[in-house]
Amino acid sequence: MDVPLYLRPRVEPPLASLLRAQTFLHSLVDALGSPLNVLIPEVVAENAARFRAVQRRHHLAGRVYYAHKANRSSSLVRRLAAEDVAAVGIDVASLEELRHALGCGFTGDRIMATGPKDAEFLWLAARVGATVNLDSPGELEQLAGLVRGHGLARVDVLVRLSGFESAAVQGGTGTRLLARRSRFGTPVREAEALLSALERHRDVVELTGVAYHLDTTGVEEKARALEQCVLFMDECRARGLAPRALDIGGGFGVGYLADAEEWERWTTALSEAVLGVRPPLTWRGHGYGLRNEGGTVRGNAALYPAHRPTAGPGYLDELLSMPAPVLGRPSATLLLEHLHDLYIEPGRSLVDQCGLSLARVLDVRPAGEEPDRYLVRLGMNAGDMSLEEHGVLMDPVLLPRGGPADGEEEPVGVFLAGNLCLEADLITRRLVHLPRLPRAGDLLAFTNTAGYAMDFHAHRAQRQPLARTVAVEPEGDSWRWCLDEDYWPLTSPGGTTA
Ligand SMILES: *Cc1c(COP(=O)(O)O)cnc(C)c1O
Repeated sequence: MDVPLYLRPRVEPPLASLLRAQTFLHSLVDALGSPLNVLIPEVVAENAARFRAVQRRHHLAGRVYYAHKANRSSSLVRRLAAEDVAAVGIDVASLEELRHALGCGFTGDRIMATGPKDAEFLWLAARVGATVNLDSPGELEQLAGLVRGHGLARVDVLVRLSGFESAAVQGGTGTRLLARRSRFGTPVREAEALLSALERHRDVVELTGVAYHLDTTGVEEKARALEQCVLFMDECRARGLAPRALDIGGGFGVGYLADAEEWERWTTALSEAVLGVRPPLTWRGHGYGLRNEGGTVRGNAALYPAHRPTAGPGYLDELLSMPAPVLGRPSATLLLEHLHDLYIEPGRSLVDQCGLSLARVLDVRPAGEEPDRYLVRLGMNAGDMSLEEHGVLMDPVLLPRGGPADGEEEPVGVFLAGNLCLEADLITRRLVHLPRLPRAGDLLAFTNTAGYAMDFHAHRAQRQPLARTVAVEPEGDSWRWCLDEDYWPLTSPGGTTA
């Protein structure tokens, strides 16, 4: 085989030491079945502390709201509920997420209800004193009606804005401003109606802040949105409303891969394969959105930028340090001058390095027409481990059962197939290079799957088992574990119950 095109994961402690506990991981899968999700709740708390440290470094007050939608687990939510009440809250996007957060120990005053909401979700949020992050003027009317009709206490609300002018484009007719379109939030241009509705409903809702969430990695675009929100908050104040918090949403991102060069090499090779100057890198020549048009690569690769020099708390730091495009001062300075609190809603980045997904190797066979390539069938399907669905390309780590066998230590290219009778059920459409050919009984560990990959798309097609999730914590040289639903944040790292 030519040079293996690895995309090796970035793995930090304690996830790195968990991966070395191979006997422990094998015994968990023996007992609980494949697939199996493993979470380290301690890491989510450490990540929250890192985000808070960035806010503090910029002298900003505020809160980290965990975007619950990234993971269904209870252990992560309960671990965060045990954190400082002033520093850590939760962002819930459905009635069930709200019920879950309450049951895990979050009180209403630490909860932010986001996304489009139905009446039941709005009522429970208002009833428990959560902050309602309003998606639209219609939602405001509905909430106001509920509060009046049921005699509820006045509700704290944020208004989510969207449609920020994001980039100047020089065209034949002069400079034009582009606005990113979103299905969510109220376009800034239409905010006038929202302001008058807020004034009209002052007796039942109090505007405590302004929010945005942009699904992009572009930091300039976010700085622009942040500044437009600060200006909008000035406008609110001029009208006698008093918003004091700016909620800048999530999207701080995760660096999945250890090595920038491996990422560069792989993406270059994909373009070459699409052009036909090298053999395909993917199942049946899939191009991840790229195509060959007369010898030129066209299209946009639908891939997550899996190697990122700055992500998570570092990305927040970059955003806060960046000069606001019009006012010129760093975003953090703008917030400070106005005495605004900063809320953030990280999902993916808050669960960075928090867990992994394990799959048993069921079967290994030659991949047919392709020489030296193998098809590895796993005890999991594409719904159980949906990094591919989110465009994240990253190699699994091979955890052999027992020691390596002689003569099998050659790097090899494999396709990873799932356990459904469905041609499309591939864990990834990419040819994955592994340091040796796996054998039935080995485990593959997909690392860093806690954000959107381990249970977001899980289903019960063909009545295949749903993955169980366990929470683990280091205990001496070993690990202790329990089912995710049985985890409560009561044990100290020494292993004694506090
Ligand atoms: C999904 C979402 C988030 C979290 O986004 P990440 O990219 O996971 O950080 C935060 N806020 C809102 C409103 C969302 O919809």
